[in-house]
Amino acid sequence: MIEFQQIDELQQWVQQEAAAGRSRILVPTMGGLHQGHLSLMDIAKKRAGEEGEVVVSLFVNPTQFGPGEDLAAYPKTLDQDRQGCEESGVDVLFVPEAGVMYAKDASLKVTEVKLSSGLCGRTRPVHFDGVCTIVSKLFNLIQPQAAVFGEKDFQQLAIIRRLVRDLNYPIEIIGGPIVREDDGLAMSTRNLNLSSDHRQEAVVLRQALLEAGKMLGDGERNAEHIQAHVEKRLMESPSAIPNYVEVVHPDTLQVLDEVTDALLVAVAVFFGSTRLIDNLCWREEK
Ligand code: AMP
Repeated sequence: MIEFQQIDELQQWVQQEAAAGRSRILVPTMGGLHQGHLSLMDIAKKRAGEEGEVVVSLFVNPTQFGPGEDLAAYPKTLDQDRQGCEESGVDVLFVPEAGVMYAKDASLKVTEVKLSSGLCGRTRPVHFDGVCTIVSKLFNLIQPQAAVFGEKDFQQLAIIRRLVRDLNYPIEIIGGPIVREDDGLAMSTRNLNLSSDHRQEAVVLRQALLEAGKMLGDGERNAEHIQAHVEKRLMESPSAIPNYVEVVHPDTLQVLDEVTDALLVAVAVFFGSTRLIDNLCWREEK
């Protein structure tokens, strides 16, 4: 595995690979790697085939954290991450410092204005500008043929698909399913910051979403009823402070009144200062 920290050495390598006709498949991460990330690397590896190269970026992007958010507390496990990437057969690890990615007087950002307005965007107003900007920069630097993102960050995946469509990046976007702990909690780097009590309680996100799935299976089509049930279920957990519970259409992310062909129930919940997200995507069987 080759590791780059500087942009010029990465770009030189990209030029060399492009000239040799080898493809690059990108998996952007913020480090603190777990099985969820590794599953995306497996997807990338398969998409790359024998000839292609898997590139993983590992960068805690400061511009996607708002004031008072957990940038300083974000877990850092670089040595372990390196080993995980190596074992997953990653070809290139890109680990830049913030000063390498952003000039001190950087004055440009990429903003998506529709899909970003609800869900996480409502309470994290600068978040998706930061995500779109850093992902655009990584796309420009690495020029991948495909990039893999997790469905755990469902809104992010939808916004990246829109970014690629609206800015004409010739890049295939591949979604990877949510990888969970044995008790159902979605794997997340932020789980490391949970106290043991909060870790036990956090399974309530999955339980509430599974109950929403059951309601749908039983024929419930009123979005408000589903939303109210999930919210109530979360509130039963003594330490859970719901940030939002929204029922939207998975393609438009627009709030639904009546469920027709598909829905996304998306939740964000605080346990202490740790904010966890999860979702359930349901589509009517045809
Ligand atoms: P992060 O390092 O948290 O920014 O995540 C990097 C990528 O991994 C994003 O595309 C996430 O959606 C994805 N990811 C994070 N957790 C999981 C998970 N439990 N299952 C699948 N993908 C995940």
